[in-house]
Amino acid sequence: MTKIGLEIHCQLTKLESKLFCSCKANYREHEINANICPVCMGLPGTLPRLNQKAIEKATIIAMALNCSTPEKIAFFRKNYFYPDLPKNFQITQLNIYGNTSVGGPGMIMVGDKKIRITRIQLEEDPGRLIYEGSSSKNQITLVDYNRAGTPLVEIVTEPDFENPKQVREFLNILSDLLENLNVSDPSLEGAMRADANVSIEGGNKVEIKNIGSFHDLEKAVHFEITRQESLHSRDIPIAQETRHWDDKRKITISSRSKEEELDYRYFLEGDIPWIKIGKEVQEKLKLEMPESISSKKERYVTKYGIPNQVAVVLSSDKFYSDLFDKSHTEKNAKEIANIITTDLMGLVDTREKREESKLQPTHLQNIADAIQSGKLTRISAKNALYEIVKSGKELSQVISELDLGNVSDEGELIKIIKQIISEEPQAVEQAKSNPQTINFLVGKVMQKTKGKADPKLTLDLLKKEIG
Ligand SMILES: [Zn+2]
Repeated sequence: MTKIGLEIHCQLTKLESKLFCSCKANYREHEINANICPVCMGLPGTLPRLNQKAIEKATIIAMALNCSTPEKIAFFRKNYFYPDLPKNFQITQLNIYGNTSVGGPGMIMVGDKKIRITRIQLEEDPGRLIYEGSSSKNQITLVDYNRAGTPLVEIVTEPDFENPKQVREFLNILSDLLENLNVSDPSLEGAMRADANVSIEGGNKVEIKNIGSFHDLEKAVHFEITRQESLHSRDIPIAQETRHWDDKRKITISSRSKEEELDYRYFLEGDIPWIKIGKEVQEKLKLEMPESISSKKERYVTKYGIPNQVAVVLSSDKFYSDLFDKSHTEKNAKEIANIITTDLMGLVDTREKREESKLQPTHLQNIADAIQSGKLTRISAKNALYEIVKSGKELSQVISELDLGNVSDEGELIKIIKQIISEEPQAVEQAKSNPQTINFLVGKVMQKTKGKADPKLTLDLLKKEIG
């Protein structure tokens, strides 16, 4: 039997400042080593000043993962020397005096499978190492400290996963959940990293470190299971070791460094007192939590009659559910859900496209109204949406500029229909004997009108003309 456990590191990217100083949490937009101060550089004599919002966000994550939340939390120093850590210790959390991390044991359902959460802790991210040079001989290592001190939440699971597919499902659910909680943007490079541990047939546990993205995590786990199964089938013992993920070659490599065997000499961080969170604060945070994905889904299905599968897609992505919630009315909810899940998704399928999109909730309202009142066909609406996402223009302007208005003038439509009937005598004969095939002629009219003919009117008129 395969057992997989995960340690997920998630940056709290929605915060303004770092965990212990006022440098920006968004370090990505700065020149190298420009987002630093004496505190995050660990200069002698500086003192950490704890970011209260970081504790709140981390507590919200703990609550969403059904974890117990202690009334008092503590911070510890984890001592080790490494160039990316200017203080020579990382301020993190540890449970040696009972549960004093932001989150205690919890659980989340992944399909029918229950995944237990061991704990959730808040800590600071180290700096970033940049390797330059082509070979190992002339390679140099540069350090960028902009990231040092960024608030990081570590989510540790029990070894409850049995295969890489469950790992992927969990990661999808977790990223949607973190995004929905408005604590992190999982699509940002480096915002989500992970370590995994894998064992098969009750054998030794192998840790895999250095996995830089959720995408690679599934691959790393898959590779490691195959490697262990291959050894096992040849009766070669599996060593208990730490392996590093090589993201260029997509394999795990035995780690020669002895850093994992270090004694970190954990001790209480004396510069930060124990923090009392208290029941009232926890209750307040609970009330401030955004509506959960499952409750959104329920609302979409029961209140608006949106099909279950559409509601699942809509609710699990914060970008879409926000758009939907800001634009729909009871009357056009189904139409807007339909526009978002069938047309919009293909247009804004990456982070960059979403940021560039000029679409506003009022645009969606107007498009849905135009479809419902017969001003636009669905095909024309799709064309209009494409233009609006690009330009942000008003729908009425787009309709006149692109000449998208419906051909609903009977006289004009009859003219076109008569033309098609004369061009397609065979199809007309067929439609007379088999009414099902009339759709071919409707399609021809649509083609001629560039999708602007009202489909229902076209069908009625065609039937009349064919007789
Ligand atoms: Zn700083």
